[in-house]
Amino acid sequence: MAQPRLLILGAPGAGKGTQSANIVDEFDVEHVTTGDALRANKDMDISEMDTEYDTPREYMDKGELVPDAVVNAIVDEALSQADGFVLDGYPRNLEQAEELAEMTELDLALMLDVSEEELVHRLTGRRLDPETGEIYHVEYNPPEDPEIEERLVQRDDDDEETVRERLSVYEENTEPVVEHYETEGLLERVDGEQAPDEVWAEVKETIENAA
Ligand code: ADP
Ligand code: ADP
Repeated sequence: MAQPRLLILGAPGAGKGTQSANIVDEFDVEHVTTGDALRANKDMDISEMDTEYDTPREYMDKGELVPDAVVNAIVDEALSQADGFVLDGYPRNLEQAEELAEMTELDLALMLDVSEEELVHRLTGRRLDPETGEIYHVEYNPPEDPEIEERLVQRDDDDEETVRERLSVYEENTEPVVEHYETEGLLERVDGEQAPDEVWAEVKETIENAA
């Protein structure tokens, strides 16, 4: 496959960001992630889109979905500039999946399966390096360099209460999206509960086989 066009699906904390970084290195595709794009624009004025709140921040801090019109515009713009891509964090409901079908064709939808208790543990222990964007975990993947360790930050929505809300939003809105791609014959599942390297080996093989 020249430049794969794929989705990475999975609950919050399943390892989408971690594996997307590997996919980008290996397959030289764009990483299109609505979560990062929204975090970089948390306070943009969306009031003209007739939304309940005036900025993405209110939705994100509660663990709710940001309105479709806002995220659809972000993805449309990003995909128009990419040949191959790994799309991470979108679509999160069936309306977004329909919108995406208008924008592009996909080679593969890759699903990372992880149990709920493990997700909570991963998310509450997640830490990020604000300088490089690298993803760490206090227990599973701490940085070796104490200088990096000192500057790590935690996302505002990675506290346990918001994590539980995000997981229930996922179950209600995004699980139907997984079923949708399964029906379309595009879905491949990977056991995301293995060690990161083992997950990566399966992810890589699955993408190569989708060619
Ligand atoms: P995670 O990587 O833990 O799944 P993300 O970084 O993808 O979380 O998303 C963080 C927040 O950004 C979500 O809780 C939601 O408020 C918002 N968001 C991200 N992607 C979307 C989307 N496709 N539709 C609506 N809201 C989104
Ligand atoms: P997502 O983008 O799906 O929300 P992340 O890639 O940010 O997930 O991973 C969530 C947390 O779990 C991070 O702290 C990351 O270091 C850790 N993590 C990712 N993959 C694994 C794995 N296979 N085993 C253990 N921890 C993992």
